[in-house]
Amino acid sequence: MRIILLFFSLIYSLSAHQVAYERWGDGETFLTFLERHNLPSSVYYDLDDEDKTLTEEIITGFNYQVMRDDQGRVVQALIPINDELQLHLTCNDGACSVAPIPIESQVRREAFMLEINNSPYYDIEKATGSKALAQIFVGGFKNSLNFRRDLQKGDRLVMVYEQRYRFGKPFSMPKLLSTMIEMRGKRYGIYLHEDDRYYDQSGAQVEGFLLATPVRNARISSRFTKRRFHPVLKRYRAHLGVDYAARSGTPIMAAGNGKVIYAGYNRGYGNVVKINHEGSYTTLYAHMTSFKKGIKNGMRVKQGEVIGYVGSTGLSTGPHLHFGLYKNGNAINPESVVQVATNALSGKQRSAFMQIKKKYDQEFDTHLETQTAPSRFDDFQYVYYLSEDSKKEAL
Ligand SMILES: [Zn+2]
Repeated sequence: MRIILLFFSLIYSLSAHQVAYERWGDGETFLTFLERHNLPSSVYYDLDDEDKTLTEEIITGFNYQVMRDDQGRVVQALIPINDELQLHLTCNDGACSVAPIPIESQVRREAFMLEINNSPYYDIEKATGSKALAQIFVGGFKNSLNFRRDLQKGDRLVMVYEQRYRFGKPFSMPKLLSTMIEMRGKRYGIYLHEDDRYYDQSGAQVEGFLLATPVRNARISSRFTKRRFHPVLKRYRAHLGVDYAARSGTPIMAAGNGKVIYAGYNRGYGNVVKINHEGSYTTLYAHMTSFKKGIKNGMRVKQGEVIGYVGSTGLSTGPHLHFGLYKNGNAINPESVVQVATNALSGKQRSAFMQIKKKYDQEFDTHLETQTAPSRFDDFQYVYYLSEDSKKEAL
């Protein structure tokens, strides 16, 4: 791999190819992107429906890379879709094609223990350099504990999580595996279960941010995946949401309280509504046959309020609701936060959870005992292409 990279960088340096970093602007679509770079619109129209829809997921404000030849013509571009997948555009003598390819990164499992001097948020950020870790910790306990009232100096916390690294630097959002805090001698924990949901020490689902199911009595027809390899098509695919199969005209409800930030037509998602919620969450409801009368940008909606009706508009093969969930612009699995009928685990599920909890509790003990120190980074990257030294290697 290294040899290939060296070989490529040699060719590129001889042929004076230039790599530029550009920003995906407000209102940019894949078609406007092609037009601005003097590329044929057929690049878009030749894509299949799934890949066309994937181009709607490019995140406003995120950087992408463009490589040009000495005459300024685009030779390649890498446009991130999420932290695992990017669109790779290649052009040769005016003939261009695009395909989703993986963003390679290494996932490291990390853990640390901290003694609280100031506040959990302040101390975690100071010790790790990561605002995201601080937010995740505070967000996890915000509905169950009152740090301001009950914390004492010297109380301790442990976090166990996964962090992605690219070119030796942390990037994208960490994934919490478990965490605990001791307050006045009592321990409170949050644990990730096999169902991708978080539960507290008693097996009750953590009420950080819980969404209501947006359609009643609907079957899930397609689940969330950030990236998978399609063995027949021999291509990478992604499905950045959950599909609920439902009859055309079935009411769609806002999954949480929030503010409508978009209600309009989108080439891939058809009639679509986007709602902003607390804690930098956004939900997306696509392929609606029609909007509820009066739904428009800027209006506030309540959880459970009808916002539109199931349909098959945009690039869709049949009536269903495509439901997307984003945290800071990154697509996450809606099923991890959609409320289930009962919020507490029981039976086999509960005993499986208790096994997982026991392992983490033992791990907490170890970190408390050994006072595991956090690894500290000064430049956490939440977006994908920013570091200077990744420029040469990434293309
Ligand atoms: Zn879908």
